[in-house]
Amino acid sequence: MIRVLVIGGGISGLAAARLAKKRGFEVRISDRSVIPEETRHTLTSAGIEVADGGHLPSHLDQVTRVILSPGVRADHLLCKLAAERGIPMESEIDFALDGYSGRLVAVTGTNGKSTTVSMTGHILDRCGIDVSVGGNLGDPPSDMIARGDLKSNLVLEISSYQLEQSSPHPAVAAAITSFSNDHVDRHGTLEAYFAAKWKVFDWVIPGGLCVMTDEVARFANRFGKIRRQDVRWVVVPGFAHDARAAEFVREARVSGRHNEINVEISVQLAAQLTGNLDYPVLARMIEDFRGLPFRCQLLGTLAGHSVFNDSKSTNCESTVAALAGMKSPVVLMMGGKGKGESYLPVLAWKQHVAALVCFGESGQSIADELSLDLRAAGIETTTRRGMREAIDDAVSHARRLDCGILFSPGCASFDEFRNFEHRGQDFNDAIAAFIEGPPQRDGN
Ligand code: ADP
Repeated sequence: MIRVLVIGGGISGLAAARLAKKRGFEVRISDRSVIPEETRHTLTSAGIEVADGGHLPSHLDQVTRVILSPGVRADHLLCKLAAERGIPMESEIDFALDGYSGRLVAVTGTNGKSTTVSMTGHILDRCGIDVSVGGNLGDPPSDMIARGDLKSNLVLEISSYQLEQSSPHPAVAAAITSFSNDHVDRHGTLEAYFAAKWKVFDWVIPGGLCVMTDEVARFANRFGKIRRQDVRWVVVPGFAHDARAAEFVREARVSGRHNEINVEISVQLAAQLTGNLDYPVLARMIEDFRGLPFRCQLLGTLAGHSVFNDSKSTNCESTVAALAGMKSPVVLMMGGKGKGESYLPVLAWKQHVAALVCFGESGQSIADELSLDLRAAGIETTTRRGMREAIDDAVSHARRLDCGILFSPGCASFDEFRNFEHRGQDFNDAIAAFIEGPPQRDGN
């Protein structure tokens, strides 16, 4: 009997364990923390052995195959031991997609992954194609397979961690939506982080499509990446001040330069999969795409101006993207748990900032970095301890300056919240008292 060890009991690890059990393996799951009682009960009643509260070498006893959760690094104790003992290791995605014969589109990038896979899935769905969307966003593929509802087309969001661990799976198209300095803690260097992302293009079958922005292409040149000759390359314009999206993007009626980029990439991916090259028609299908919560989500108006919740912004690039997309100046709210990156790129869009309110663990350092330049441009910066106090500040600035609010933290949420969803919901709850009117799609 093959005994599988799943390392890591997060969403993907649990899904892989369930699928492995369903595929008839003996399964053990190893987690560094204590797995909550309810989850443990579900796992053990499904016949899955739970080895939690720390990873121990004994967890590899009698194990003949290892499945890795995305959070598990190659230098993890159990990975090293498994390698020494010659036990094969694979990622959750490898395990799930083994034998999948449907058509695959893979999307990665520092920012814009979830929006792009959702838009692509939306277009394909509107084209009448049977499509699943998942991966890093939504359900892990293991869950879709275990439930028996993985469709014959899959638009997969894949993170650099997952790419690093996975072998290439044949894809008809792949995209890198953006690239900036994030996750260097895990990958060691910017070059290693880029190399992990670039792996997505190894997935593309000959004759398939590879899409990226011109900014990503510049990184590829910098790191000496060779473009394969047996695939088609499309490079879409990125964030340069003079960058203009293709004509057809207008049909999608999205707001924000970043969303225009996401539309352009999604339409290219969908065109490749469907063979329908009528780009304006495909773009028009995005018009009724609702957008994802906490990604530049328009909540409503305050004194006639828009309030946006961009809690998903956990790095500087995504805040810059959101800010660049504003049609008039806003009170910008930034802060949380910083990752040591510089926030100076925000200044490139200071004409879109009416005031800056910083908060949380890294609030003071963001203010220290930006306030001098902003003050020179007549823009005030304030700093508050927590997000709730920062909201009060932002509301009074917005009323005084007659403008909207963009909550785009540019930092992780873990100093005050469980995750970006928790932070986003808390922002919604707190700002609700001040919202006066319904969302207005055009302008802010
Ligand atoms: P991901 O899944 O990669 O985290 P999302 O689609 O959830 O990306 O978007 C997260 C945030 O990143 C958005 O709220 C927005 O501020 C920013 N963003 C979205 N698309 C892009 C893009 N193409 N390039 C840069 N930033 C983007």
